[in-house]
Amino acid sequence: MEEIQQPTPAYQNSGITRKRDDYLEWPDYFMAVAFLSAQRSKDPSSQVGACIVNQENKIVGIGYNGMPNGCDDDLLPWSRSADDRLDTKYPYVCHAELNAIMNKNSADVKGCTMYVALFPCNECAKLIIQAGIKEVVYLSDKYHDSPEMTASRRLLTMAGVQYRQFKPKKTEIVIDFNSINHPGMLNSATK
Ligand SMILES: [Zn+2]
Repeated sequence: MEEIQQPTPAYQNSGITRKRDDYLEWPDYFMAVAFLSAQRSKDPSSQVGACIVNQENKIVGIGYNGMPNGCDDDLLPWSRSADDRLDTKYPYVCHAELNAIMNKNSADVKGCTMYVALFPCNECAKLIIQAGIKEVVYLSDKYHDSPEMTASRRLLTMAGVQYRQFKPKKTEIVIDFNSINHPGMLNSATK
């Protein structure tokens, strides 16, 4: 019996025969969203972003560090040290974790995972616990030995919130707006 010749699918003619295998994996994607959000921060010394994800891998909240809504960030101080603590940013600034929780677009964030650039401080640990977030994935732990981080670990552990350090598959993700115009180039260059 003669074999029926099937037409070659168009995608094979273009040289693309199978799906990409260097696509961003979910954890890298969510951490990248946190880092992209941090680019919105006006803090000159520390830009932190957070991204809350539910059990269906859907993003339900994003935030970055900044002054409270309606409080003029040109009038409030951004310095890290001053003779008077009221002249530093610390009493005023909202951390990324707080903003991500408050910005949630779901009824609640119970059972969710938070991706955040820096290990959360003790104040954010309280918010994370009270919001019902069950897991924290952080990238840097550079303030590990401070009392705030020590208290934070103590609280998170007692409350049964898991936390783990994120090891990115790629150290850099480049977003090139021009890539969409290059045939065969997919819309994110990654290395
Ligand atoms: Zn905090």
